[in-house]
Parts: sequence; C-alpha cells; structure tokens
Amino acid sequence: MRKLLLVLAASAVAGWLFGYPLAMLTVGLAAVSLVWLYQIWRMRRWLEDPEQTPPESFGIWGVVYDTIYRLQRENREARSRLQSTVDYLQSSFASMRDGVVILTQAGAIEWCNEAARTLLGLEYPRDRGQLILNLVRLPEFHEYFVGGDFSRSLQVGLKGGRQRYLQMEITTFADGDFLLFVRDVTRMLQLEQQRRDFVGNVSHELRTPLTVFKGYLETLMAAGDRFDPRFHKPLEQMELQARRMENLLDDLLWLSRIESVRSEKKTERVDIAGLVEELRDELAHSHPERVVALRLDTRDGVAGDYRELHSAISNLVLNALKYSPDDKPVLVHWRREGEELLLSVVDQGPGIEEQHLPRLTERFYRVDESRSSATGGTGLGLAIVKHVAASHRAELRIDSEPGEGSAFTLAFPD
Ligand code: ADP
Repeated sequence: MRKLLLVLAASAVAGWLFGYPLAMLTVGLAAVSLVWLYQIWRMRRWLEDPEQTPPESFGIWGVVYDTIYRLQRENREARSRLQSTVDYLQSSFASMRDGVVILTQAGAIEWCNEAARTLLGLEYPRDRGQLILNLVRLPEFHEYFVGGDFSRSLQVGLKGGRQRYLQMEITTFADGDFLLFVRDVTRMLQLEQQRRDFVGNVSHELRTPLTVFKGYLETLMAAGDRFDPRFHKPLEQMELQARRMENLLDDLLWLSRIESVRSEKKTERVDIAGLVEELRDELAHSHPERVVALRLDTRDGVAGDYRELHSAISNLVLNALKYSPDDKPVLVHWRREGEELLLSVVDQGPGIEEQHLPRLTERFYRVDESRSSATGGTGLGLAIVKHVAASHRAELRIDSEPGEGSAFTLAFPD
C-alpha cells in the first residue's frame, strides 16, 4: 500500500510539475496495474508447475509467493507423511501370516493381502470391487456375513483334497466397512484332537484294569468276615479310592466326548423345567436328607443336547449339595430375563473368595484341597459345566461371597 501510494504521489507531483496532474496520475495507475497484471501472469505460470521454485519478487508479491510456497511445502510434507504411514500399515498387513481383506459396507473387496489370496483363492487386484460372497462360496460364511453378528469368530472346514479348517473373524471400522481376518487353524485343531484322543484313550485303557481290580475287591469285601478285622479298614479305603478313580475316569471320558462334539449344531429342544424336575426326583432318592427347592418361572426350553445339559445342571446341583450344610436347602431357579433364559443353582454354603472365581472352571482347580478330597469330587465338574455352556452358546456366571453362599448361573441366549 505504501509503495502504491508512493507511485501515485510521485505521478501526481510529476504531473503537477509538468502541468498534467490527471494524465500523469492515470499513467502512474496504469503502470501499477501493468506490474500487477505481470505478477498475476507469473503466478499463474508458476502455479501450472508448482514443482518449480517461486519467481523472484519483492514487496507484497514476494510475501504472497513465499506464503503459497510454504503452504505447498507443508502440504506436500503432510501428504508424504500420510502416504508413508499408509504404506507402512499396508506392508505390515501384507506381511501378516493371517489373511486380511478390507471390505466396503456392501461387502465388495477393497484390498486383500497375500495370505488372504492363498487362503481364500482371491486374486488381487483383479477381484477388487467384487462381492466377497460371490467369491467365497461357503454356506457358513454366507450365513455369518449376512447374519451380522460378529461377536464370535467362525470356523469352517474346506472340502476337497487335504481337509483344512479356516477361522474367520470380522470387525467393523470407519463408516461400517469390514475387516475380515482369516487364519488356517488346521494344525491347531489337529493338535487339540490328538490331545483329546490321548485323554480319551488313556481313560478308556485305565478302565479295564480298574474294573478287574474292583471286581476282586468286591469279592474280597463280600468275604470280609473271614479276614482279620485289621483288614476291614484298608479294604474299605481301597473300595472308596477305586470308586473315586472310576468317577474320575468317567468324568475324563465324558469331558473328552463333549469336547469333540462341540462344533455340532444343537437342534433338539430341551425342556429345562422338566429336566430339573426329573433331577430333583433322582436326588430325592440318592440324597433323601436334602431339600432341593425348584422355582420354575417359565416352561421355555433351549436348543441343545439333553445329556449334556443334564450333566451340567446335575454337576451344579451336586456341588451345591456337597459344599453346603445338610440342613440348608438348595434352590434351582429357571427364568427368563430380557433376551436371556437363566438357570441358577443357589446354595447357602461357605461361599468362594473372589480370587478363586476366575480359575474355578479349570480342570482340577480346587479352592480348598482338604475340603474337596473330603467331599470326594473329581475336580472336573465345573470344567464340564463350562464346556457344555460353551457348546450351547451359554455363559456360566458365578456369584459368590465368603459366608454368603454361592449362585452358579447358566445364561442361555434366547
Ligand atoms: P470338585 O469335584 O472338586 O467339586 P468342581 O470342578 O465341581 O470340582 O469344583 C471346583 C471347585 O470349586 C471345588 O473344588 C470347590 O472348591 C469349588 N466349588 C464348586 N462349587 C461350589 C459351591 N457350590 N460352593 C463352594 N465351593 C464350590
């Protein structure tokens, strides 16, 4: 502005000196306009190829060029930083052993890494924009994707050639786009199967000698009167321990059985209220001294396996009877709460300290070794309950406080 005023003042003074103030002022204004037009033209040429350094200039135009140049440089730097972050993330995804597929809201493939190409047989970039459901033609995956409940992962077996198993997991991000993770779990499942087979086989093999042993023991006990009384106690102890071992083998076999049929779909409708009524009648014979009270607020059943559910619920009720005093009743409560069906087994026993709760369903985990061996448990009861719950998509919840009793609840989704 100062320069502009200076030029105009100089033109006015020159005009006044030469007697043509208006003409000189006009000439001055025209000169300033020409200079500005020239600068605009230079700027346009520069902006056509902003890679060039800005034209040399001074005054206001110099400031304008410098500011634009600085903003351009900052913009370029931010872009390249962003690009290198994207490249870095993409290369880390690309190098993952698990398959990763980015899907749009509509389920079209946006990007996938090398592992996803091998695992799912995709071709990238050829398949970009294609719907994943058209390329991954597995009915289970179709159901999983369309169902929209991604809180659990999906495990599918692939047919043909060598049997392979894939685990698929979907998460949503940004505005409802999807990230699909795929992992080959064949080896893991094989190892798990081997472990289950081993436990199952060992338990099975141990049962045969145990049966022989128990048979002889019973014969000896039947002829007990003919023995020296000193042998009576050892014989009773042997019989008790043989029974414990038999229970343990039975539980181990049962656990390995329910573990191996876990993936099968449960279609049978089980009447839980009827099941607990039956259980109460059974216990009235085996534990006549105890009261098992029932509160059946609903007659709704759940999709499941009767034997498994019977074993889980009876384990909970037997625990409640085992760990609470004989004069205290045990309550079995079946009810609906919102979207869930709940089966609670409530006792007035000694309760369990909080630090034990997370580990209670581990095999052979015991809160109090001496109390448990006195009650003769196998240490597998709650592990069985947890497995049955998992195979029924149910959850085992434990509420307990020392001195206040315990409530074990199986929560079934409706
Ligand atoms: P166990 O055969 O020893 O009963 P479980 O797996 O059934 O094995 O139970 C694990 C442990 O949890 C038990 O040893 C016991 O310490 C504790 N427990 C289970 N149910 C109850 C209960 N109702 N009250 C108190 N403690 C319990």
